[in-house]
Amino acid sequence: MALRPDVIKRNKSKKQRESVKKSWQNKEIREKRIEKMKKITGEVKATYGHLGKKHTENTKQMISKSRRGKTANENHPKWKGDGVSYSALHIWIKRHKGKPKKCIKCGKINKKKGDVHWSNIDHKYKRKLEDYKALCPKCHKKWDLEHKLTKH
Ligand SMILES: [Zn+2]
Repeated sequence: MALRPDVIKRNKSKKQRESVKKSWQNKEIREKRIEKMKKITGEVKATYGHLGKKHTENTKQMISKSRRGKTANENHPKWKGDGVSYSALHIWIKRHKGKPKKCIKCGKINKKKGDVHWSNIDHKYKRKLEDYKALCPKCHKKWDLEHKLTKH
């Protein structure tokens, strides 16, 4: 397998690099080298295909354009109507409401993971931020029992 010209270049010592730099100032040597490089790069391209190639500016713009405006609410690609998955919902809630600070019922402070979480008050899991309340697991259970909600 032929080495890529940029790899060869990178492995050169400082002294070698300086002599290369000097020789580049000579037009004849420079042109010869460019020809040689073109030949090598051509071969490399044929061997490596797409590998290592970066997106062109045009593609980059196209990608960013298609992503624009799709990060919030209903434009989010994860939303598939109201039948969105449970975990996707919680990612969305966290993104919009942040971490729950304390339980709205007993006032328990959210110190570590699982202390307080966003609970859907009617278990309909709608895309409504106000339907989610910060509750500790204990109060969440109580809430669900009181409202005869069992399905998570
Ligand atoms: Zn609580």
